Amino acid sequence: MKINLKELKQKTVDSEDYSFNARFSDELLLPFRGRFSGPVNVELHVESTGKVFWAAGDLRTGVVFECARCLEEFIFPVNIELNFNIADTVYRNDFTEEEVVFVSGDELDITSYLEEEILLSLPMQPLCDENCQGLCAGCGANLNLESCRCSEKEIDPRWEKLKQLKTGKEV
Ligand SMILES: [Zn+2]
Ligand SMILES: [Zn+2]
Repeated sequence: MKINLKELKQKTVDSEDYSFNARFSDELLLPFRGRFSGPVNVELHVESTGKVFWAAGDLRTGVVFECARCLEEFIFPVNIELNFNIADTVYRNDFTEEEVVFVSGDELDITSYLEEEILLSLPMQPLCDENCQGLCAGCGANLNLESCRCSEKEIDPRWEKLKQLKTGKEV
């Protein structure tokens, strides 16, 4: 994703709006065992404030995760507010890298900046719902959808016979 700052740099405009709808590689999400549910939408407004360009906007996409508790797949919505400053590398001595994103030339590739923002927004332990009941450790039932079957486990007929002897009842 590249934003062209030519007009802003030449001061023919004071601000510029950018809109992207791009596919990001799922490789980015491998450490999180996730994948993108669709494209990454970015709306960005950039204003010239002299030496520095001020950029603000938002990024929206979704990531498909496997819930850490119930193992069902779900889409985690990613909504990130973007807010950063851009300065030309000629001002490298005036700013630190925490303050601005440096650009040399007219085009700024914001892909890695956005990738970092996405990674920072993702949960380490993705949950389909905060109240996800997870799976029963005994019978494996998804407790969000069904009840535990542990007590219904098939009883060995020999034990059943023993129970009858003990209680003295006939079936
Ligand atoms: Zn879950
Ligand atoms: Zn169970």
